[in-house]
Amino acid sequence: MPIKVEDYFDRDTFKKMKAFADQKETPFVVIDLPTISRAYDQLGACFPFAKTYYAVKANPAVEIIDLLKDKGSSFDIASIYELDKVLAQGVGPERISYGNTIKKARDIRYFFDKGVRLFATDSEADLRNIAKAAPGAKVYVRILTEGSTTADWPLSRKFGCQSDMAMDLLVLARDLGLVPYGVSFHVGSQQRDISVWDAAIAKVKVIFERLKQEDGITLQMINMGGGFPANYIAKTNSLETYAEEIIRFLKEDFGDELPEIILEPGRSLIANAGILVSEVVLVARKSRTAVERWVYTDVGKFSGLIETMDESIKFPIWTEKKGEMEEVVIAGPTCDSADIMYEHYKYGLPLNLASGDRLYWLSTGAYTTSYSAVEFNGFPPLKAYYLD
Ligand SMILES: *Cc1c(COP(=O)(O)O)cnc(C)c1O
Repeated sequence: MPIKVEDYFDRDTFKKMKAFADQKETPFVVIDLPTISRAYDQLGACFPFAKTYYAVKANPAVEIIDLLKDKGSSFDIASIYELDKVLAQGVGPERISYGNTIKKARDIRYFFDKGVRLFATDSEADLRNIAKAAPGAKVYVRILTEGSTTADWPLSRKFGCQSDMAMDLLVLARDLGLVPYGVSFHVGSQQRDISVWDAAIAKVKVIFERLKQEDGITLQMINMGGGFPANYIAKTNSLETYAEEIIRFLKEDFGDELPEIILEPGRSLIANAGILVSEVVLVARKSRTAVERWVYTDVGKFSGLIETMDESIKFPIWTEKKGEMEEVVIAGPTCDSADIMYEHYKYGLPLNLASGDRLYWLSTGAYTTSYSAVEFNGFPPLKAYYLD
C-alpha cells in the first residue's frame, strides 16, 4: 500500500516542508515547530491536571527546548550534558527532574549544585548516593512494568524495581533524610496496549496505601513516564482515547483526589513533526532472476534510523514516483551489513524508483538526530532544520 501523506500531515504543513526540503541536499531531517506546539497543547488538553516534563533525549535541539520552555514545560533530563544545555536556554532548575536511574555520584552532586531537587531512583546504591550528594532532595522510585511485548520500543528490564523493593527504598529515603515523594513507571515507548497503564497504576496504588498504613509515609506524586503514540505504519488509538482510559484507571484507584501527576512525553510530542529526507543511492538485484530489489539510501541505521533495529519502528516512507509497486529491502550507505533497515517487513516501493529519487521518511522528528553516529565510515551526523 502506498503511503498517503494526508494520513500524517495536513496539506499546507507538508507543502511548506517539502518546498524547504527541495532546496537542500540530502540527507537531513526537517522539523515543523508549530506541529510540536500543537502536540504539546493537545497533551495538555487531554491531561489538564498533569505537569509535562519533556524527555529531552527524544530530540535535544535548542529550538525545541526554547519552544517548550516558552510553553511552560518542565524537562526530564538524563545527563549533565543535557542539563547544561537546558539550563543554558534559561530553564530554571525547579523545572528539571533527573530522571535517569543510572548515574554517577558526582553527577548527582552537579545537578544538586545547579539547584535540581527532584531525582528518580530504582536501587539502594543510587539512593544512598542521592542522600549524600543531594541531601534533603525529593526522590521518586521507578517500578518495573509489564508491556514489553506491546511496546514498539520497550524500556523495561533495565529500569525499575519490584514493588516490594520500591517500598523499601522509599522508607530508606525517609530514613536517609530525603523526601519520599512518589512513584514512576514507563510502560515502554510507542505502547500500543493502553491496558498496561491500568496494571501499572494499580501497582502504584498498592505502594501508596501500604506506605501510608505501615510506615506513615504520604506519597505525593505519580510520574507516568512516556509511551504515548506517534503515527507510524502500525496504527494506534488516538491520544484522546489513551487519555480517557488512563484517567479512568487513575480515578478507579485514586478517586477524585489525584496526587500530583507528571507525564514525560518524548516521542508523542516530537515524532510527527519531522520528515527525514533521503536519496536513493542505488537500486540493485542480487542475481539475474532475483525478484527482490535492494534499495540503498543515503541514510541508515547509523545516521538516524537506529529505531529500525529489529525493525521495531516502521516509519511511513513516501516517494513522488507513482506506479506499480514491488517489494524491496531497504538498506543504508555504510560498509556494515547491520545497516539494513527493513528486510523481513516488506515495504513496497515503485518499480520505476531509481538513483537520485528522494524518499521521505515521515514521523521522524524523535529519536533520529539524537541517535546519529558522529563519523561512522566518515558520514557526518544527520543534519536537521527547524521551521517556524
Ligand atoms: C525515554 C524516556 C521517556 C520518553 O518516552 P517516550 O515513549 O518517547 O514518550 C520518558 N521518561 C523516561 C524516564 C525516559 O527514559
